[in-house]
Amino acid sequence: MFYADLSPYAYWNEGEEFTDVADGMRYVAFQPVYERLNIGWLEAGLSWTSGQAAQDFGRRLLGVVDAQRVNVMLGLHECDLCPTPLPDTHPWYTPRPGDLRASVGTGEIRVPGSRGVVFAAPSLIGHYVVDHGYLPPQQFIEAVLAFDPYGAWQPKYPGIRFPWIPEDAVLRHVDDE
Ligand SMILES: [Zn+2]
Repeated sequence: MFYADLSPYAYWNEGEEFTDVADGMRYVAFQPVYERLNIGWLEAGLSWTSGQAAQDFGRRLLGVVDAQRVNVMLGLHECDLCPTPLPDTHPWYTPRPGDLRASVGTGEIRVPGSRGVVFAAPSLIGHYVVDHGYLPPQQFIEAVLAFDPYGAWQPKYPGIRFPWIPEDAVLRHVDDE
């Protein structure tokens, strides 16, 4: 699916769900009190900006992708920019050999921007930047460089690395349902 960079996020309006990265079974769900702006929802055939960002940007972005699991129940995001489609018979959970389309996990990431604004990107954005040369808007680049998911702020739950989780958000376990 395609959304223009910096347009209001509208993909999933049932709230935010952050999964504990270490555990995989615990999660926190809440209605966001921040504004969400789309970044990096690319699609083949539609224009997007390419170019070189600051040297450290790709590595830092991949660090955020590794550190978060947001809205993972939404299913697989396959890269539309890679040249060769994945055969239907290829299991979605095994790595893509050669130049077959990448599908870098599922889900999304959240990067805090200016006060009350969060950037919402698919987890594939790391692949878009590193492998396809996608250059996101400068304000997103600056937000990523300023955000350390393992930083000095104290996460409410160790495996859920995002600073703006509401105080009243409750940690749940998938077996609770
Ligand atoms: Zn790709």
